[in-house]
Amino acid sequence: MSVCTCFLLSLLSPGLELLIIGTSIFCQPYVGLNKDFKSMLSEHAEFKALTLKDIIKASDGTRKILFTLDDGLVIETVIIPCDRGRNTVCVSSQVGCAMNCQFCYTGRMGLTRHLTAAEIVEQAVYARRLFSSEVGSISNVVFMGMGEPFHNIESVIQAADIMVHDQGLHFSPRKVTVSTSGLVPQLKRFLRESNCALAVSLNATTDEVRNWVMPINRKYNLSLLLQTLREELRSKHNYKVLFEYVMLAGVNDSLEDARRLIDLVQGIPCKVNLISFNPHCGSQFKPTSEEKIIEFRNILAEAGCIVFLRPSRGDDQMAACGQLGKPGQVQAPLLRVPAKFQSALT
Ligand code: SF4
Repeated sequence: MSVCTCFLLSLLSPGLELLIIGTSIFCQPYVGLNKDFKSMLSEHAEFKALTLKDIIKASDGTRKILFTLDDGLVIETVIIPCDRGRNTVCVSSQVGCAMNCQFCYTGRMGLTRHLTAAEIVEQAVYARRLFSSEVGSISNVVFMGMGEPFHNIESVIQAADIMVHDQGLHFSPRKVTVSTSGLVPQLKRFLRESNCALAVSLNATTDEVRNWVMPINRKYNLSLLLQTLREELRSKHNYKVLFEYVMLAGVNDSLEDARRLIDLVQGIPCKVNLISFNPHCGSQFKPTSEEKIIEFRNILAEAGCIVFLRPSRGDDQMAACGQLGKPGQVQAPLLRVPAKFQSALT
């Protein structure tokens, strides 16, 4: 039997749970490990863990955890507690991000490196270990922390598999959601290989706006992205993609945008999350007013869309959506603002 590359040893209540990532070996030796197996592990396997650096608690109970990696780099993971017992851990998949979405603090960092599957899974393990007694069990995992998960597709599919495996962390596949800015080939692969949930960060209803706020759209435009979803979801039963839509005042929040959004998602089994923009230092956008978000929501709901408003969580401690990370001195460039939106940003 060969034990390969990387693995994660985690202590999960009530016993010892061993996951060996990269092999088909998953065991839960609750009554102790066999001696030969232990000796084989010590010879061939490498125990790597994240090192806890800091925990920052926001006024709404959201916790941001900073972990130091083996090479000294730092990633952030967020625990979002919910009254109804639906506690969520938001994991990172990369150190930084290459996608340069203009509304995102992490995007300002650029990409330093991908995380390994072990580094991704361990964030969820830590979340359980540190907070289950404090906030209750962690029921959901979202890949919405630092990074574009599909830019690191191998490790992300592997990590998601371990999270839902009955010998792994055993989350329900419906409760593990991977979010993408729209990398179409990897999105297709994910839908074919994984039974976890998918979220697509949409944030615009025209290519003109999306090319600016999410430059990945210049490679995979709205029509290609949505047509791919339409085709791929035909063969998935009882599966709905979640569209995330960050509301940017004067940029993507007009009533015409709401109507265009209805047309764009036509024929795609989906839900829509409307998200308040979380300002951060250096950001050029402004949040849409609550009244306008509700008006936008009502137009979608009247047309039969399943639509939710997602309030900001953890924003007073930079733990909210789009606020993770720490840009260094060299930052990804801010793109030219199309002339007709310049007044919305001033
Ligand atoms: S929104 Fe996501 S994909 Fe876009 S820059 Fe931020 S982390 Fe990357």
